[in-house]
Amino acid sequence: MDTSLDFARNLDSQDPLASFRDEFYSAEPDMIYMDGNSLGRLPLETIDRYDHLLKKEWGDRLIRSWNEKWITWPAAIGDKIAKLVGASEGECLVADSTTINLFKLIMAALDLKPDRRKIVSDVFNFPTDLYVLQSCNHLKGDRYQIALLNSRDGVSIDWDEIESVIDENTAVVSLSHVVFKSGFMYDAKRLTEYAHSKGALVLWDLCHSTGSVPVALNEWGADFAVGCTYKYLNGGPGSPAFLFVRKGLQEKAMPPIWGWYGDSKPFAFDLEYSPAGDVRRFLSGTSSIMSYPAIECGVDKLLEAGIEQLRKKSIALSSYLIDLVDEVLAPYGFKLGTPRDVNLRGSHVSIQHEEGYRINCALINEMNVVPDFREPNNIRLGLAPLYTSFEDVWTTVERIRVIMAEEKYTHFSSTRIGVT
Ligand SMILES: *Cc1c(COP(=O)(O)O)cnc(C)c1O
Repeated sequence: MDTSLDFARNLDSQDPLASFRDEFYSAEPDMIYMDGNSLGRLPLETIDRYDHLLKKEWGDRLIRSWNEKWITWPAAIGDKIAKLVGASEGECLVADSTTINLFKLIMAALDLKPDRRKIVSDVFNFPTDLYVLQSCNHLKGDRYQIALLNSRDGVSIDWDEIESVIDENTAVVSLSHVVFKSGFMYDAKRLTEYAHSKGALVLWDLCHSTGSVPVALNEWGADFAVGCTYKYLNGGPGSPAFLFVRKGLQEKAMPPIWGWYGDSKPFAFDLEYSPAGDVRRFLSGTSSIMSYPAIECGVDKLLEAGIEQLRKKSIALSSYLIDLVDEVLAPYGFKLGTPRDVNLRGSHVSIQHEEGYRINCALINEMNVVPDFREPNNIRLGLAPLYTSFEDVWTTVERIRVIMAEEKYTHFSSTRIGVT
């Protein structure tokens, strides 16, 4: 293993996606951004799109812009996202947050399986996902058992665990395709087919996969999916999320929120709700139009790069990072918190150290590297294949080495603060 900077630079010189990096805003060349899996960077083109949105669409055209373009955005940008996640036209929408979309779809899923009493998720799922499952159960009179797939090694979920928990009483299986802490990635096709063989519905949370790993919702046979747009999609802080409902379920699944935008004729202002005949029934109220141009720019770039190329580079980046961790950081007590098998991991790598929190503080405050930290001891390094370079990976590892060699983490307290 060649640990030199020249080696990293050579990998960059052969990277077919290298030029995308210059299409993103960057005011601090020395800052290494390793958190594109939490908040993606700002595409330069987005700045121009906002100038247009603010001055022309809102400023000049005012409410006329609704009919001129805005009204189409939730479905039209949903159709672009569909191409990233292997769905068909008319199956995805951009609306609300991931949390709210999860709620809408889980409630609909439970109603489709009225005789079943089990909801399956896993111990790795994002807290909001688990809380939503708990609240759905609560609203339904606490009649479900929420069964969580367990992990033997704290990093991945074994197949026998899946087979022992998903059964004929399972109404819905709700999982993150790539889990937020360890980066473990499910074999989604196999799991979806297995759950279907037991008669259960399957919802995939794609927050950590969309834009970095291939997703094939139709090929998997997935029933429902949600995902956010501010991570690998670069849609900006708090940008609305997307949802997916398989074609065959769209006329049967009922949203729990009957909003006017989900009505078949929103501008008829009827006194009685009649749901739209397609996925649009899962819209609730007026869309957050101010966020859509940024989502579209972000998605366009990913489509231009191509998801196969993105995955190829992501694997190369994470494999290189893991090699460097083994060689340079393992002697300082670091452990890998992510699967070594590339087929079992997404696009971020967690490294664990008992001083993880303080090392993370030193990285941000003294070494100009921005990753994030996930309890209890994970430093999470997000590799966004559109703009993360091999030199970024090398520099990150080198700066962590300096922190350890000079014990810079001792300058910080282990008291947790705010957003980590
Ligand atoms: C980021 C993330 C969320 C965030 O949900 P919001 O409603 O946007 O706050 C949910 N689930 C997973 C798996 C995530 O990674």
